[in-house]
Amino acid sequence: MNNRSPASAPSPSLKTASDPFMAAARRAVLEGATEPPFSSPLNQEGRAGLYSCAGCGAPLYKSSAKFPTSCGWPGFTQGTEGAIATRADHSHNMTRTEIHCARCGGHLGHVFDDGPTAQEHPEGTTMRHCVNGLALDFTPSGA
Ligand SMILES: [Zn+2]
Repeated sequence: MNNRSPASAPSPSLKTASDPFMAAARRAVLEGATEPPFSSPLNQEGRAGLYSCAGCGAPLYKSSAKFPTSCGWPGFTQGTEGAIATRADHSHNMTRTEIHCARCGGHLGHVFDDGPTAQEHPEGTTMRHCVNGLALDFTPSGA
């Protein structure tokens, strides 16, 4: 961030960032933090459109892959072709699959195997991409 106050900023820059939302977005994307559940307006987003990476703008998820979740974060059955990269995450004494943007490496969330089936969702894959809303920018179709 652009905090250039030399004398009054002994604390880390995140505390002095002028925009708390942007500070949270920066933490979520760049440092792998997770936003609080039910905090993202994208949980309720039902319009058609495209979800792109908040870090680099790469198209990550189509609205057609989104489905309602009860976990508190936006959920998707699959990413767009080649957009999502994964790696094993052993933090918190669990083995989970972390997902990040294949282009910029920005942290997105985790993927679980409890998503909707093809019978339950048009793009059901049984996978659930649990994504930080802060890591996504939503662009409605035709906007
Ligand atoms: Zn990216």
